[in-house]
Amino acid sequence: MEAKISFYGAASGVTGSSFLLQIRDYKILIDCGLFQGHESEKNHLPYPCKLQDINYLILTHAHIDHCGRFPCLVNQGFKGKVISTKPTFQIAKIMLLDAAKVMKEHYKTLYKKSVRRGLDLPPPPLYDEYDVLESFKYFQIELPYHTPFFIEKEIKITFRDAGHILGSAFVEIVDLKWNKKFLFSGDLGNKNKPIVRDYELPPEDADYVLIETTYADRNHKTFEESKIELLEVIKDTCKRGGNVLIPTFALERAQEILFVLREFYEKGELPACYIFLDSPLAIRATKIFKDNPEFYDEETYQIFQEKDPFNLPNLFLTEDVEESKAINQIKSSAIIIAGNGTLSGGRILHHLKNNLWRHECSLVFVGFQPKGTLGRKIVDGAEKIHLFGEEIYVRAKVHTINGFSSHAGQRELLEWISPINNPEKIFLIHGEPEKMEIFKNLLSQKYPPEKLYIPQLMEEITLY
Ligand SMILES: [Zn+2]
Ligand SMILES: [Zn+2]
Repeated sequence: MEAKISFYGAASGVTGSSFLLQIRDYKILIDCGLFQGHESEKNHLPYPCKLQDINYLILTHAHIDHCGRFPCLVNQGFKGKVISTKPTFQIAKIMLLDAAKVMKEHYKTLYKKSVRRGLDLPPPPLYDEYDVLESFKYFQIELPYHTPFFIEKEIKITFRDAGHILGSAFVEIVDLKWNKKFLFSGDLGNKNKPIVRDYELPPEDADYVLIETTYADRNHKTFEESKIELLEVIKDTCKRGGNVLIPTFALERAQEILFVLREFYEKGELPACYIFLDSPLAIRATKIFKDNPEFYDEETYQIFQEKDPFNLPNLFLTEDVEESKAINQIKSSAIIIAGNGTLSGGRILHHLKNNLWRHECSLVFVGFQPKGTLGRKIVDGAEKIHLFGEEIYVRAKVHTINGFSSHAGQRELLEWISPINNPEKIFLIHGEPEKMEIFKNLLSQKYPPEKLYIPQLMEEITLY
């Protein structure tokens, strides 16, 4: 055996991305994400390999479903080195600290509930802030795009821009002894978005490809269409005398929304309003964006030369809780951007309580709402919801604007893989099984079906 791969996460599922590539004696782990939603109990299982033996961990980007288990790895014996881009290291730090905080709060709530009801106690949090801080010492190798890094003289790693979030990369690993090339797509971005560049195309001579399939079954609306939709919602809501709530993820989406609001403002299209970025995590993430202009696309970089691309005069950053509560006093013409994006927690819930029952307000979803979340319930047309022990009617106008997605749609995934001529194997990962089947059928028009494979979780495949 010279090379084998094991699928520890995002196999026949979306979350928990983690793949172990073993080339001879070298063990390289690509991502170590948290399982989320209905898969989250898997986070409590011991890592499926001997962590002491891992030489390198590569983080493709800082989303928690790609880096969120790292402190667990360290607790369980990881001694290797982590390789990533500069923004990924910076953002991963704030994401992991936030994850520890959210876990602690969630645990406290569950604990109280279990004691009150006489139920079994919940499992303790996966890690705390101290574990997270401890884990940072392994963040050692900062690798820019297009800069080869030799982990030994015959194994070479190169990052290319995945166009997904700031600092995101797809990874090329070459075994020079046998001249074999591996590609790990990480998450691929949507095209023509502000801030990040479009994804790069992979080399045509890749032999083994892992490609994400999150939205492999559909195409997104264009970003331009979505911007117009958002502006119309803001104008209408201000006219009706209501507030606009935008539940959003702290990373990338929040900065994109600020970016387009600034554009509207500068073109004189934005009605008079207050804008609140009501999320300490999003405020921290925005600071990191401002620190890394060399990762911007051309357009954003040009703007950055003259001004802050994420600021406008009527923007208020509300870091502390009292400031956040004060927003409740404002009944009209406020745009409130708050986490979290699926309404499963965070400050957005308080804003829902104050605005959701008012028909003059709007609730705008700019991200995917997974099954089982409060966000999905509202998107699916719930007439009322339960919040903080109260029943609240959904009278605000609900909009879903999908062109803000940071993920490639079907068209982009097909374009990304198109240069690859004669692969040994293409593995479909990071997607729901039905979507993978749809994409596999599409790919079989170009590649022989025996070269396309949907791996199962924990599967281990010897490559050569
Ligand atoms: Zn991602
Ligand atoms: Zn992902």
